[in-house]
Amino acid sequence: MAEFETEVLVVGAGPVGLMMAVELHRHGVPCRIIERSTEASVECRALHVQSRTLEVLEHLGLAEAAMELGVRVRAENIWKDGSLLQRIPMDWDPLPDIPFPMMLNLEQNMMEALLSDHLTRLGGRVERGVALTGVAQVPESVTATVWTPDGVDHIRCRYLVGCDGSTSLVRKEMGLPFEGHPYPDTYIMADVEVEGWLAPEESHRFIRGDEVLLATPIRGSHRFRMTTRDDGPSQVSPSEYGFLGESRPPALQEMQRALDRVARPGLHLVNSRWTSHYRVSRRLASRFRKGRIFLAGDAAHLFPDAGGQGMNTGIQDAWGLAWRLASDLRGSGTWTLLGGYEVERRHVATEVAARTDRAFRTRTELLDQEAEGSPQRWMQSWAQLETNYRDLPGFEQHGSRPEQAALEAGDRAPDGRLELPGKGTLRVFDLLKGTSSHALFFFQGLELPDELARLADWLVQHRSRQVCCHFIRETCSLPPEGLSPLYCDPGGAVATSYGAQESSVFLIRPDGYVGFRADAENAGRLLGWLDRLLGPVAD
Ligand SMILES: Cc1cc2nc3c(=O)[nH]c(=O)nc-3n(C[C@H](O)[C@H](O)[C@H](O)COP(=O)(O)OP(=O)(O)OC[C@H]3O[C@@H](n4cnc5c(N)ncnc54)[C@H](O)[C@@H]3O)c2cc1C
Repeated sequence: MAEFETEVLVVGAGPVGLMMAVELHRHGVPCRIIERSTEASVECRALHVQSRTLEVLEHLGLAEAAMELGVRVRAENIWKDGSLLQRIPMDWDPLPDIPFPMMLNLEQNMMEALLSDHLTRLGGRVERGVALTGVAQVPESVTATVWTPDGVDHIRCRYLVGCDGSTSLVRKEMGLPFEGHPYPDTYIMADVEVEGWLAPEESHRFIRGDEVLLATPIRGSHRFRMTTRDDGPSQVSPSEYGFLGESRPPALQEMQRALDRVARPGLHLVNSRWTSHYRVSRRLASRFRKGRIFLAGDAAHLFPDAGGQGMNTGIQDAWGLAWRLASDLRGSGTWTLLGGYEVERRHVATEVAARTDRAFRTRTELLDQEAEGSPQRWMQSWAQLETNYRDLPGFEQHGSRPEQAALEAGDRAPDGRLELPGKGTLRVFDLLKGTSSHALFFFQGLELPDELARLADWLVQHRSRQVCCHFIRETCSLPPEGLSPLYCDPGGAVATSYGAQESSVFLIRPDGYVGFRADAENAGRLLGWLDRLLGPVAD
């Protein structure tokens, strides 16, 4: 047996495992991905793709394809006792700092196909019909026992990532409790065409008494996914999460009857593509990591299906873990860097669990627009743009900041429009592409202040493989010598959205989060921060 069959073994080729494998390949990490099913999934649980996920897809060059395959949801309508009570438009134009202010409905199996095709382009492939049956780890490696069509095999790797869904064997082998509970009710789902007055490309929530029926658009003429509580005889199922896969799925008439009860007349369901019962749970693994084994996606957390968070959170887990593994395997990561995965993503999962639970339990209530700030603000929290790691270890900010600056270390770095003199406009997100971290130097005068200039020189000389430097100032004329690339920020809009009214440096991590920010006087502290995260620079 070779010393290692692969650096990282990814178990499970759902959306999270596929994102994990794609990201590892993009970072140049040799990895394998195994999947027990012999065929690609046709099951579509997740549908809502959030804004932050679209930003990640854009980084991979996949956002455009996703938008072509999916349906943009134009509004959310709330109907009570047959009357329209609230219509929240979601049809915003792209904002300078938010390129995808929208929710896209893209079926999970199509998302998987998109990621799987991209994995192939990057030189990887899903090994289908290969099931994990056991895991063992020693301090320097992990050995997975797998069942393949040719018999039992062992795969030795440096790290293993369990993306094997709600019933995760990896989690069980790690001996980790999956704390939480299932929700008592069973739900029915129908993927169906709707004849009648229902506005297409919009989501509708029908409320009457304690009954709620959700209809959200999917690709196809007047096609919707409808879900509601099953009030028929209770389903006996050992499964507490996901579709029940029963031999006799609900008849379309059940959904039609529920629709007739909650909506005003004139809607007819036809051409059903599939119907199913399903259940939901809320659970959180007690750890997301044990030694060299990590959990991501449903293997680590389950949320009720309110607000479309499960897959999106899982995709962000993979996005947040791959760069850490890549840094570690390149020899420029510390144990702190790997440990940060669990700290950050478990923090996020805890928050999402509480938020989705609240939303799930109050589905019969109208949106409390006051409490949510505004519909747009409400959308932003579901869009995962406000997910942040503020106050967690590993983030630093130094020096004075204008009071109104919203951006703190631990926040998502916003997009913005810049100009490259003589070459036209580009976006901050164009700068942040690639696999390294990025240091954004903001300054006002003609010259970069000495402290920032010294820091930039040092980074270029000693950390150029890990950190790319970019220089941004309001005025475009007379670029100071040696400062390249120098971008201009007309009107200072980007500096304002970063809260960089004075000369300062921001370190943006490869996952697009602000890890460190400081004014010029404190900029030198970045070196210590990088040493703690990536290890000291080799002489
Ligand atoms: C009704 C419903 C609606 C939902 N809607 C949304 C939504 O709109 N938006 C959203 O973000 N989320 C939604 N979710 C949640 C979403 O479906 C999940 O969060 C998502 O599928 C998790 O992806 P995953 O890759 O972690 O797990 P999975 O999709 O479950 O994939 C796990 C994979 O691992 C494989 N596997 C398992 N065990 C092994 C083994 N031993 N060896 C090898 N392979 C193995 C499985 O075959 C599977 O392919 C919804 C969930 C439900 C139930």
